[in-house]
Amino acid sequence: MAADTPGRDPVETQETLSNLLQETRKFAPPAELAESANVTAAAYEEAAADRLAFWERAAERLTWDRRWDTTLEWNPPFAKWFVGGKLNVAYNCVDRHVEAGNGDKVAYYWEGEPEGDSRTLTYADLKREVSKAANALQELGVAKGDRVAIYMPMIPELPIALLACARIGAIHSVVFGGFSASALSGRILDADAKVVITADGGFRRGAPSALKPTVDEALKECPDVTSVLVVRRTGQEIDFNDRDVWWHDLVDRQSEEHEPVPHDAEDPLYILYTSGTTGRPKGILHTTGGYLTQTAWTHHAVFDLKPETDIYWCTADIGWVTGHSYIVYGPLANGATSVIYEGTPDTPHKGRFWEVVQKYKVTILYTAPTAIRTFMKWGDDIPAKFDMSSLRVLGSVGEPINPEAYVWYREHIGGSRCPVVDTWWQTETGAIMISPLPGVTAGKPGAAMRPLPGITADVVDDQAQSVPNGGGGFLVVRDPWPAMLRTIWGDDQRYIDTYWSRFDGMYFPGDGSKRDEDGDLWLLGRVDDVMLVSGHNISTTEVESALVSHPKVAEAAVVGATDPVTGQAIVAFTILRGSAEESADIAAELRNHVAKTLGPIAKPRQILVVPELPKTRSGKIMRRLLRDVAENRSLGDVTTLTDDSVMNLIATKLPSAK
Ligand code: ATP
Ligand code: MG
Repeated sequence: MAADTPGRDPVETQETLSNLLQETRKFAPPAELAESANVTAAAYEEAAADRLAFWERAAERLTWDRRWDTTLEWNPPFAKWFVGGKLNVAYNCVDRHVEAGNGDKVAYYWEGEPEGDSRTLTYADLKREVSKAANALQELGVAKGDRVAIYMPMIPELPIALLACARIGAIHSVVFGGFSASALSGRILDADAKVVITADGGFRRGAPSALKPTVDEALKECPDVTSVLVVRRTGQEIDFNDRDVWWHDLVDRQSEEHEPVPHDAEDPLYILYTSGTTGRPKGILHTTGGYLTQTAWTHHAVFDLKPETDIYWCTADIGWVTGHSYIVYGPLANGATSVIYEGTPDTPHKGRFWEVVQKYKVTILYTAPTAIRTFMKWGDDIPAKFDMSSLRVLGSVGEPINPEAYVWYREHIGGSRCPVVDTWWQTETGAIMISPLPGVTAGKPGAAMRPLPGITADVVDDQAQSVPNGGGGFLVVRDPWPAMLRTIWGDDQRYIDTYWSRFDGMYFPGDGSKRDEDGDLWLLGRVDDVMLVSGHNISTTEVESALVSHPKVAEAAVVGATDPVTGQAIVAFTILRGSAEESADIAAELRNHVAKTLGPIAKPRQILVVPELPKTRSGKIMRRLLRDVAENRSLGDVTTLTDDSVMNLIATKLPSAK
């Protein structure tokens, strides 16, 4: 396991993960989609026959200033892709579409949280704005290789700032706008950023929420930051000091021309710190050529993106890797038209997402299980009020999707006609690695299915042997892939220890997985979260999915708590659906339901009905804290929680459950 996630590694004592959940539903791709799909089953064969040639063809979808000499240089665990090649990422994402006559095509429909507040940016607009911002950064003294920290709301200036850095070869480090001053200063210091780009604030949950004061606070610790570039978004009163400069003062007066110089395929593009679900954040380093190749190809293949007709919407924040790869780089490299939404799904009403889908006639929607389970909790009647007949492909990312949430998403959002692609990947992998292809794969609810063409993922036991069909164990990747992280910023040793030391010569992402009888892959959550009950390794995902399959349950989190009899016992925290009543016998009902679905071994010792679950700022359940609660310990680090009052709410529920 990761060197810096101390303590637990129960799977090590066992060969495999128990395989409890039986799911037989299967959904074939719609005939029309299959006939016109961007990528067919042949891609798997082509990639299997010659993996490097496959990635070369994917790289040829980009515009290179100089073709590479060597496709892959592999000095394990350090990879270089497209060595000797030169390209400009911003040119690929912006200028080349304008030069091809698509300047009037919309790149982004931006929808602010306050209703009626929207902007449209064509590719020509984007070229102008990115050029001006690139000139502005150069005026501030930013040069190739310098780091620029970005701490912004979801406004158009955010992707513009990323692309301006990429254009001049500066390395951006985006810090999600919800992080605290200390999280921000820690990341600025680790990357040694010279300039910070921010805004006075952004709109969240119906009110302006300030960002600049957090930057001011953070910068007390960061003497090396020379300039702060501030976008005026909310008009809030903010402090301004010597190093601060308004975006509208500096950027607006710049020339609209900026010559994009070619960068090396292995020049750094960005650093992104992982969300911190499991420990001290790691500065994941991505480079240009391989990263853009794989983000663009996967966006084309997994979403079947047709740039002429599709309206694509990824609801992630650009502060996470999903936003980097699938709001900014992949879609723009493909010349897509995307929607960006600034706010939360419940503002000003719980149908806001569906209103956005209806307004822009969104055809491809990419969101997270946490959001889907929230929509389930709010009730089916909300999406039913909107016309979502434009949708044709649905995607999921971030956590395992429970089969019931998948089926709900398919039915209530996708009108039972859209394939759901469950995409497994990480900040570290840079791009999607395991996913169905919407025109090829008959999807199973809850399964990420197969490694994409060109990706050699496998499931192994603790002796690094491939498990047979029907077995479970550790997910690994056997060969380097173009968008892989190159290292942890400034810490090669931590890169080696964290990802390449558990299994010799293989990348270990830290996730458990099983391979079903058909050979399809199911992701079973983090290996650190696996429970060891009476000698069986049981995945939290499977028990949570069993709970969510009960009609009264919207969301569940389970943990293993020390137990004198069974080693660990399962403790479940559940949120009920909007319409379900909490009754005295609900715990018994749910325990029996799990026993019936998965077998008696998985029956929770305790079930607690709670109003909320602790989540990271990227929306993932933080089981570590629930384990502290279940074992009556004082809580560990809560700084990455969205809302730490949640833990108090949960604590008040405890005695009644015993
Ligand atoms: P940290 O590494 O700091 O703890 P994090 O792992 O939450 O944070 P990300 O890189 O955003 O940060 O998330 C990647 C992880 O999310 C994967 O390792 C996996 O555990 C989970 N994940 C993402 N997509 C899926 C999916 N489709 N199915 C199952 N799990 C997924
Ligand atoms: Mg991780």
